[in-house]
Amino acid sequence: MKESENIVIVGAGLAGLTLGYYLSQHNVPYTIIESNNRIGGRIYTDESYGEAPVELGATWFGKQHTELQKLLKELHLPWFEQILGDKAIYEPISTSPPMMVDLPKNNDPSFRIQGGTQQLIKALLNFIPKNALVTNCQVTAISFEQDNVQIKTNKGHISAKKVVSTLPPNLMANTITITPPLNKNLLEKARNTQTWMGESIKIALTYNQPFWRKENLSGTLFSNVGPISELYDHANAKDNLYALKGFLNGVYYNKTKAERQIIVLNQLERYYGLQIHNYVNYKEKVWRNDTHTFVPHKELVWPHQHHGDESYQKSYYQQKFWMIGTETSPQFGGYMEGAVRSAQRCFGEISL
Ligand SMILES: Cc1cc2nc3c(=O)[nH]c(=O)nc-3n(C[C@H](O)[C@H](O)[C@H](O)COP(=O)(O)OP(=O)(O)OC[C@H]3O[C@@H](n4cnc5c(N)ncnc54)[C@H](O)[C@@H]3O)c2cc1C
Repeated sequence: MKESENIVIVGAGLAGLTLGYYLSQHNVPYTIIESNNRIGGRIYTDESYGEAPVELGATWFGKQHTELQKLLKELHLPWFEQILGDKAIYEPISTSPPMMVDLPKNNDPSFRIQGGTQQLIKALLNFIPKNALVTNCQVTAISFEQDNVQIKTNKGHISAKKVVSTLPPNLMANTITITPPLNKNLLEKARNTQTWMGESIKIALTYNQPFWRKENLSGTLFSNVGPISELYDHANAKDNLYALKGFLNGVYYNKTKAERQIIVLNQLERYYGLQIHNYVNYKEKVWRNDTHTFVPHKELVWPHQHHGDESYQKSYYQQKFWMIGTETSPQFGGYMEGAVRSAQRCFGEISL
């Protein structure tokens, strides 16, 4: 690791890499420090040869996500519409059988990036100089001194002029020691800022054939009974690799993968019969168990609680410290769009 740097960005998720992309375009030197052995954070596409790329993290965006779309266009990344079909399996209550319902015409479609959301991460990475990204390196402490910032990691120290945290605020507040300490109100706010999707579980099954499109079935499922609450047809853009992908109730985080797999298959067998077992692979990601994303909140927090709070819209320690990342964005906090917007805001201030 270099001894000193102009700007250090903590975290190589969408916000950190987007900020790096803008800084690179303006020849501003920086280093991104990432604790995980992979980059992308809550963007995580499972890519197995010969199978549909499976989104175990962020998947969809909409027309309203204008800054994300602008970025995708700049990076020449095409997108496609999520298949919903004409019908969905709907399970309103446990005491009556699941039913097929007609889906109304969708005037507000969701879109997916061709090849998987990870394509965005890969495209941004092309703009990050090789020596400007350090992975497997966890920031544990940040001290603000008169003229510089000392950043402590599990691989040594680095000094910088400015530092940007892209961590979900609750994770930052619980895992990085800041000296002098953040003011009490801000620390309290960060601890109570909900980490979007931090407790979610994504599950997917890949198939050689999309059997659910035949026999009047559907890949779209909405269930109030669960434990899978939503399921979608997750074919690739060319529609020649197939998968079903959905959300499993987060309470199953402490089961084993094998136990969750049985739970998933049992539920889906109710709708699809034995053919559900002809899968190629079962895939899952339990975000609650990912220490690079989530630490439990001390108190109950509501979805989007404190997202885009005004305390995140300014810098601290005499313009040496910024908190960005999707949860800090006043618009679309929690979503990829929020991560991109938070990076844009910081870029406008830090590069002055
Ligand atoms: C299951 C799931 C489904 C989602 N679905 C959608 C969707 O359909 N559409 C949508 O728009 N959004 C969705 N999202 C949200 C989207 O993924 C996020 O908004 C976005 O990826 C957040 O990016 P970020 O850079 O702000 O944070 P993160 O991606 O969390 O990046 C933070 C980075 O910091 C790193 N880090 C953590 N601690 C340290 C440390 N101490 N030192 C160094 N590095 C550290 C982490 O490893 C990570 O890479 C979903 C998220 C999940 C989990």
